[in-house]
Amino acid sequence: MFSPSKYKEIQENCLKCSAELVAVTKTRSLDELQDLYASGARIFGENRVQELIEKKDLLAQDIQWHLIGHLQTNKVKYIAEFIHLIHSVDSIRLLEEIQKEAKKNSRIIDVLLQVHLAQEESKFGIKEKDLDEFMRVLVSLDLSNVNIKGLMTMASFTEDKEQVRAEFKKGKVLFNHLKSKYFSSKSDFKILSMGMSGDYLIALEEGSNMVRVGSLLFG
Ligand SMILES: *Cc1c(COP(=O)(O)O)cnc(C)c1O
Repeated sequence: MFSPSKYKEIQENCLKCSAELVAVTKTRSLDELQDLYASGARIFGENRVQELIEKKDLLAQDIQWHLIGHLQTNKVKYIAEFIHLIHSVDSIRLLEEIQKEAKKNSRIIDVLLQVHLAQEESKFGIKEKDLDEFMRVLVSLDLSNVNIKGLMTMASFTEDKEQVRAEFKKGKVLFNHLKSKYFSSKSDFKILSMGMSGDYLIALEEGSNMVRVGSLLFG
């Protein structure tokens, strides 16, 4: 069940750090999403395209929908018309597809590059060692309908808070590195999306300015 007091507390912690809160609504019922909306939340994050579009059609039109989970290239077309931010870009092929669909819709789509920093093996996220090569290819493409707004990363799933902190520190270092090397200071490369229910306070301390919180909102 949605907890308005938890929402308020998390929102206040974000405000203190000038960070934005993405309310992660995956697996939650429409009633829960409506309660969240009634509390003032307008940024909703989902990790599956199908679930996102089903919910979107049934809820208020002023919600900003963020896709936070892995995105298959063949699903970009379903969200291109309205998606506010895609957090999970981790391949050149996906970027090219987003460019194509954004253009079709006469839009510029905002995206984050997902970097893999956690200890767990994962197919998703650009590995740190591959980042510069990724950027080298990226800057050679026509991405006039894609706006690269920053980085997203997830910390390891562990009780070891120092491990989590070290990974978030690394996220911030990589963010600064990419910003200074590939984006001008006037660019929109400004978002560092890191922190979830279990670690968002550590993420805020380490420089996150966008947290993605789900379970903690729902008691
Ligand atoms: C589910 C999810 C979250 C939120 O996780 P909680 O632990 O429920 O806060 C954040 N980011 C991504 C990418 C997710 O899939």
